[in-house]
Amino acid sequence: LSDALAGLVERHEVQWHARPFRSEDVSADLALVLAATDEPEVNRQVAEQARAQGVLVNVADRRALCDFALPAVVDRPPLQVAIGTGGASPLLARLLRERIEAILPSGLGELAGWVDAQRERVRQRLAHPEERRRLWEEVLEGPLGELVLAGQPERAAELLEDLLARDAERRGVGEVYLVGAGPGDPDLLTLRALRLMQRADVVLHDRLVAPAVLDLVRREAERIDVGKKEGFHPVPQERIQALMVEHARAGKRVLRLKGGDPFVFGRGGEEIAHLAEHGIPFQVVPGVTAASGCAAYAGIPLTHRDHAQLCILATGHRRRDGQLELPWDALARPNQTLVFYMGLHTLPLLSERLQEHGLSPRTPVAVVHRGTWRDQRVVEGTLQDIAGRVAEAGLRPPALVVVGEVVRLRPRLQWFVGQPSG
Ligand code: SAH
Repeated sequence: LSDALAGLVERHEVQWHARPFRSEDVSADLALVLAATDEPEVNRQVAEQARAQGVLVNVADRRALCDFALPAVVDRPPLQVAIGTGGASPLLARLLRERIEAILPSGLGELAGWVDAQRERVRQRLAHPEERRRLWEEVLEGPLGELVLAGQPERAAELLEDLLARDAERRGVGEVYLVGAGPGDPDLLTLRALRLMQRADVVLHDRLVAPAVLDLVRREAERIDVGKKEGFHPVPQERIQALMVEHARAGKRVLRLKGGDPFVFGRGGEEIAHLAEHGIPFQVVPGVTAASGCAAYAGIPLTHRDHAQLCILATGHRRRDGQLELPWDALARPNQTLVFYMGLHTLPLLSERLQEHGLSPRTPVAVVHRGTWRDQRVVEGTLQDIAGRVAEAGLRPPALVVVGEVVRLRPRLQWFVGQPSG
């Protein structure tokens, strides 16, 4: 026996039978059996006997013989966090537990207990489950929760009374969160975006918002896809704005989730102007715009001391009459980087105009499809041949066009390796 085990035996915390295993040791009245000898044959016998008796068994390091896996546990009673890998990697579970241990305040158990003690009081005051949910969110994420964590539960209970009184007045006013969802990789969300996403009652999202990002929105939230589909009519802008007002007036927390940054070719300005007119409270959360996301994940710095002192974000979207209304003379200049949003369909026209206005046909161009997504693709070429190359590669939107000398740095700076889907 190791010293640790011998100590347990001494304190009568475990029983030790110093003899070989016998099949009678495992009987049907046991709750669980763990086999952890260093003799595989004995472990196998134990498992077999347990199975015959209908008792759940775990054999150390033999996943095939286990009925259950032992999770790594963070224990702050009554709060528990268990991390399981289905036996795939107990070490990974343990490392995650260490990380979780480190970020969870030590008073979290007390907080859970405190909430439990206040529940009945809150239930009596707030009849509607939705109201209670909001109150608890405010408590747990706000100063009251902090007070309990800091060891002042009585003071927190007093302040809870104020909050209950205030809640009664405030009922019925919703809010809109205009949130940038970034270019696709969910790791690029801001902390605030994530927090608001997890509070939303209703989410209105664009087609550009990646599914991996949408997965992080609170599960219970109602989802409304207002995105444009090619060939299908999008929900018109006026309707989107009306929906936001409608839901906010119904007291909902409305998440308006937009690809990239809401203030970069996102009509975010129009949307909040409409809210302001209607007296609806709102907040705006910036996101990583496609230009920075695509540039970073494609290894193309947007500015560079030697190659580009200016970076211009432009739209390649056609006007109604099919023309591109852009200041070509200002665009067709050396030492700057041009980034075209919505420029895939107009790429032949774009490259032609830039050459007509003086850029060299050999100016390098990169087109980034689904930048930062796992299936990101990048096609490189020059103003002269990029349109042909993109057509050949069969690139589809969303794609971003980057024009300028900085594109030449890509072979040396590229680091992100996507995984082609399908
Ligand atoms: N508000 C968004 C832009 C919306 S306009 C932002 O800040 O990024 C839509 C255009 O953005 C698309 O046509 C495409 O050119 C570009 N875009 C958005 N996400 C992209 C991505 N992940 N990869 C490549 N281009 C993207």
